Amino acid sequence: MARRTKVYEGKAKILYEGPEPGTLVQYFKDDATAFNAKKKEIIEGKGVLNNRLSEFFMSGLNNIGIPTHFLKRLNMREQLISSCEIIPLEVIVRNFAAGTLCERLGLEEGTRLSRPLVEYCYKDDSLGDPLVSEEHIAAFGWASHPEMDEILSLALRVNDFMSGIFYGVGIRLVDFKIEIGKVFESEFQRLVVADEISPDSCRLWDIESGKKLDKDVFRRDLGDLSDAYTEVAMRLGVIQSNKSQLTEPRLVK
Ligand code: 5GP
Repeated sequence: MARRTKVYEGKAKILYEGPEPGTLVQYFKDDATAFNAKKKEIIEGKGVLNNRLSEFFMSGLNNIGIPTHFLKRLNMREQLISSCEIIPLEVIVRNFAAGTLCERLGLEEGTRLSRPLVEYCYKDDSLGDPLVSEEHIAAFGWASHPEMDEILSLALRVNDFMSGIFYGVGIRLVDFKIEIGKVFESEFQRLVVADEISPDSCRLWDIESGKKLDKDVFRRDLGDLSDAYTEVAMRLGVIQSNKSQLTEPRLVK
């Protein structure tokens, strides 16, 4: 078996060199982490679900003309992506108050915001991904002003697309985080939605009951994370039935 070259390993994913120049293979692990990896667990099947869900959202975005790094799914846990230079920002879009926004401003969880709120955090685990302003981003050269305009527009388009899809299956998109990458094509450079879009990086509440269907289930010990993600995937039609599709085939002796 040929050995692959690992390019990067993060908390939930591994990147390997891809089969062609300019491509990478993104592998989804079952590891769940929260509070800057102070809380950790292996959730069987999470990687498989997030691979399928991220494929669903990224290919949908590609199809409506919002560029992403996603090329194709390779197998249960891996997808082929365009290699890109990640801008070191977490781009967060919020439709309802939750999480750190409530902590910072003393808002009640679930308060509807008068318009989508876009925030930026500097991606650095050792600093706890601090909130930064566009002034910081320009001053430290993380992105230029024209790139920031494009990032804002991409973030709002992704929000509209995902809010609509989730609304159609009775789920409220409370907030989410995306990352943006720069893809270089000869002398041109374009911005694409990168990393992943999955319940690991969104807050998703059932519209009727308010039940949480995202990583807060793990962060706050609210139940079985894999049940929550399976429900999201089933409502979206990404998987047909139960968890049996989430485990790798095993050799029957
Ligand atoms: P908050 O700032 O309220 O913690 O998070 C806002 C949104 O961004 C939530 O949907 C949360 O899941 C997502 N988010 C924030 N930071 C991270 C991160 O480091 N990793 C992931 N996967 N999602 C994040």
